[in-house]
Amino acid sequence: MRVWIDQDLCTGDGLCVDHCPDVFVQLEDGIAYVAEEGSPLNDPGGARSLAWVPSRHHGSVVKAADVCPGECIFIEMDLAIGA
Ligand code: SF4
Repeated sequence: MRVWIDQDLCTGDGLCVDHCPDVFVQLEDGIAYVAEEGSPLNDPGGARSLAWVPSRHHGSVVKAADVCPGECIFIEMDLAIGA
């Protein structure tokens, strides 16, 4: 699973960070970004803003996308087995 955020739509409420602080972070601009292995990927719209999600976080990332008021968390499922 991979996940990215459309920062143009983010309201900055922080619900995603509440649900999964290992994958979502809020930076100084108040906007949420995805993180991979603890490093924020703050390249909005760029290929490097797509974070790989460890399987243990799949449930909470899906839940975060579900409750996101900006509807701006996008999940992409990997086709590879075990991803
Ligand atoms: S839940 Fe959605 S709108 Fe709220 S901070 Fe996270 S990405 Fe932004």
